[in-house]
Amino acid sequence: MTCQLDKQFIEQTISFHGHSCPGLAIGIRTAELAIQELKITPDSSIVCVVETDMCAVDGIQFLTGCTFGKGNLVHKDFGKAGFTFFDRRADKGFRAVFLDDAIKDLPDPDGLSGREARIFHIMGADISDLFDVKAIALPPVRPARILQSITCQECGEKVMESRLRRFDGKELCIPCFMGYEQKI
Ligand SMILES: [Zn+2]
Ligand SMILES: [Zn+2]
Repeated sequence: MTCQLDKQFIEQTISFHGHSCPGLAIGIRTAELAIQELKITPDSSIVCVVETDMCAVDGIQFLTGCTFGKGNLVHKDFGKAGFTFFDRRADKGFRAVFLDDAIKDLPDPDGLSGREARIFHIMGADISDLFDVKAIALPPVRPARILQSITCQECGEKVMESRLRRFDGKELCIPCFMGYEQKI
């Protein structure tokens, strides 16, 4: 079945992202899958791990409410179209991988080609054809912990302790540490 999300939501997602593109279409269908599988509501406790930082992530942020700022969207830089969602309250989740082959060889619809045809196929496909979905039993990441802030002894700016580097007896932020490293 084609994308079941409200047309208005889709329009809003496109204006949030700034343009319509195949990557965003993948994100919209991924969010739709998560909404279907996990019955996402504004008060659900969903965490999402994305293995790419491409356009798709904007669709996921806008439609599922998982955002970087809230800490329930985590980017792992694997360069894969892999998306994991986990509902901490219901204790269930899944990892979905977008199957590019599902739409690769479909003929261009009348009047559309290239990117436009790709968007058309992604939005129109059966969601079950677009993704390889596997259930997962454990949360993919631990809840964010509030860490202490330490002052960098070089620039004087505060830095989260987990990002602190030690060099030559000094506690440094990453940019200052990198500055030292280049001088050796
Ligand atoms: Zn885009
Ligand atoms: Zn510094």
